[in-house]
Amino acid sequence: MDIISRAEWGARAPRSRTTTTWSKRTEFVVHYSEGPTSQTPRQIQDYHMDHNGWADIGYNFLVDVKGRIYEGRGWLTVGAHATGHNTSGIGVCFIGRDGDATDAAKKSIRWLYDEAVRRKGKSLAKKGHRDVTATSCPGDELYRWVKAGMPAPGGSTPSPKPPTGGTKAPKWPGRYLTQPPIMRGDDVRTWQAQMRKRGWTITVDGAYGPQSERVCRAFQKEKGLVVDGIVGPKTWRAAWEAPIT
Ligand SMILES: [Zn+2]
Repeated sequence: MDIISRAEWGARAPRSRTTTTWSKRTEFVVHYSEGPTSQTPRQIQDYHMDHNGWADIGYNFLVDVKGRIYEGRGWLTVGAHATGHNTSGIGVCFIGRDGDATDAAKKSIRWLYDEAVRRKGKSLAKKGHRDVTATSCPGDELYRWVKAGMPAPGGSTPSPKPPTGGTKAPKWPGRYLTQPPIMRGDDVRTWQAQMRKRGWTITVDGAYGPQSERVCRAFQKEKGLVVDGIVGPKTWRAAWEAPIT
């Protein structure tokens, strides 16, 4: 497969760059741009450099709906795509919103992963941005695909049928789930299991701690609920009844 070089897509020169080595690369982090599929790498670069003030486009590579691969910072330049994971992680961004990823795009992301493994000579952990930060990125659909092992489209492993939301919520337990101190109980476990089913990275341990609160806040933000990190009746109900968008 071809990688469209920076010169070919008209990239600006980076303000600075820091490189790393293959031994430090241990993970492959998938993102989405959460913008229109017509967005160009140059528009994304301009935003990252002029609005965010970054040295360059944040990602190592980008992939569009047609499956075209664009060079971002490349294989061994430290990116700006996932705080704390820019040296260990190669960041690949799908240009589009949740549900926009095509088979062609997935095929190209998978190809980049295989190419990274070939160059490193060892496998890398497959992650979605939300595995390392409280964010909805790379969207539920792409995230499920990453967690299913990034199966090559058209391969023999069908992707698991995604949950769609819109199922009736069980009765609200009648107490507000919040922390600190850490609250424990079957109600916490039930809510955690449901959030996990929706694609969030959350440990189902029946203990409402900082991770549960982070997921709760990110979910509330995504659904336009009051962002208070507390699972009250509305947040509880939305965990089952809100569509997975
Ligand atoms: Zn991201």
